Amino acid sequence: MNTELIFSWILGAVIIIAFLIPYIKRMMKKEEKARERLKETRSKGQEKALMQHPIINQSACIGCGICVDSCPEGDVLGLINGKATVIHGSHCIGHGKCAEACPLSAIEVGLGDISQRQDIPRLNEHFESNIPGLYVIGELSGLALIRNAIEHGVKAVNHIETSIAENHDNEFDIIIIGAGPSGLTSGLRAKELGLKYLIIDQSEPGGTILQYPRKKLVLVQPVSLPLYGQLKKMEYPKEELLEIWEDVITKEALNLKTKQKLLGIDQKNNGFIIHTNKGDITANKVILGLGRRGTPRKLGVSGEDFGKVMYKLMDAETYKDQKILVAGGGDSAIEAAIGLSHQQGNDVTISYRKSNFFRLKAKNEQRLKEAVSTGKLKVIFDSNLLEITEKEVHIDTQDGQKTILNDFVFIFAGGELPFPLLSAIGIDYGQNITISK
Ligand SMILES: Cc1cc2nc3c(=O)[nH]c(=O)nc-3n(C[C@H](O)[C@H](O)[C@H](O)COP(=O)(O)OP(=O)(O)OC[C@H]3O[C@@H](n4cnc5c(N)ncnc54)[C@H](O)[C@@H]3O)c2cc1C
Repeated sequence: MNTELIFSWILGAVIIIAFLIPYIKRMMKKEEKARERLKETRSKGQEKALMQHPIINQSACIGCGICVDSCPEGDVLGLINGKATVIHGSHCIGHGKCAEACPLSAIEVGLGDISQRQDIPRLNEHFESNIPGLYVIGELSGLALIRNAIEHGVKAVNHIETSIAENHDNEFDIIIIGAGPSGLTSGLRAKELGLKYLIIDQSEPGGTILQYPRKKLVLVQPVSLPLYGQLKKMEYPKEELLEIWEDVITKEALNLKTKQKLLGIDQKNNGFIIHTNKGDITANKVILGLGRRGTPRKLGVSGEDFGKVMYKLMDAETYKDQKILVAGGGDSAIEAAIGLSHQQGNDVTISYRKSNFFRLKAKNEQRLKEAVSTGKLKVIFDSNLLEITEKEVHIDTQDGQKTILNDFVFIFAGGELPFPLLSAIGIDYGQNITISK
């Protein structure tokens, strides 16, 4: 072998090593991080996905990590043993960007085995449940995404139109429960078809979108809204998307009642009796677009209706340089408070009605101690939130009433999921679901 050839072999090897070693190091670091994250999400019960999610063909996956980086929600996937793995399933919204990005088509997005699930209603292709005339749409059906919610609303109402009872003696043809994207779309389609409908919501119109972090970019695949037309952009800031909904509600004068909560449903001859906190309503058909987030328990204090009051922390990083009160003393309250206290410039206080925290996870207890001792967090025990105003909160404490300057309030007082209500109505779960993404 001549020296020139040897030299080019050596040069080649040096170049490969120079690139390969940092690459391997980077991948090992990524994997270590993913393992730590999986440990953390497992400890919080957040590793499994609840809705449509990536299902990875492990034998086809080559561990390139492109899917991991393509997730718009962040850390749903990670590399474990050199293979893509769901590590933070509860964060997954089912955008499907990972499946699009995978160069080997090793990812499908779906619900997986739902035969044992008690939170995915059994539905036919029109979203009708085992109770004829009662439909379940949107995220409550198991499929997330605004586009799905809109499509479900249109499909359910189209089917209802073909099957509505003639001369029924109910107040409405359809009652739609939930004014998120699925319920609002159902109302728009019902209006377009000339049906007599009513939408009710326990809160304000907008559904889960109202709970997104401020200025969150919402990805919306091309979809058409009845009476509005195409949602033209692929992404909207949360606030702009909510404006579109508000405009269409006003322009179409949708028959919508807010602060009216569904409590139960009974079947009657030719329809349903819908029990709500504001009395009973009768309708020939019912659409449930309740989402999956349930009903947070409210404290019933004055000012709780302000937009700055939240019942869930979606993303701590969107809150910076803010004065924040967290009311509650369970693990969720503590995790939110710690997360918020680590963001730049935040001034975070926890108000808890008891004299100590009980039964916290060991890790939370430890992190809480550290945050309090370093002055990142303040805790006021034996205290009750009395009133929320635009710029302040008033708290009853053992040393008398305190007023604290405030930008945001997070209340963690528990809540109810929608599934016991569905069971009480008589809706079946599990096998034979026929819907697809
Ligand atoms: C952080 C986050 C980010 C997301 N980002 C995106 C994104 O970028 N793109 C995307 O397409 N999707 C995204 N999603 C998912 C999307 O928001 C949901 O899939 C969609 O809002 C579901 O619409 P829905 O109408 O089925 O339910 P929801 O939007 O949850 O609305 C349900 C409504 O029902 C009401 N309700 C509940 N119970 C009762 C009751 N008992 N009585 C009366 N009313 C009741 C609620 O008050 C609520 O208004 C995201 C979700 C989250 C959590």
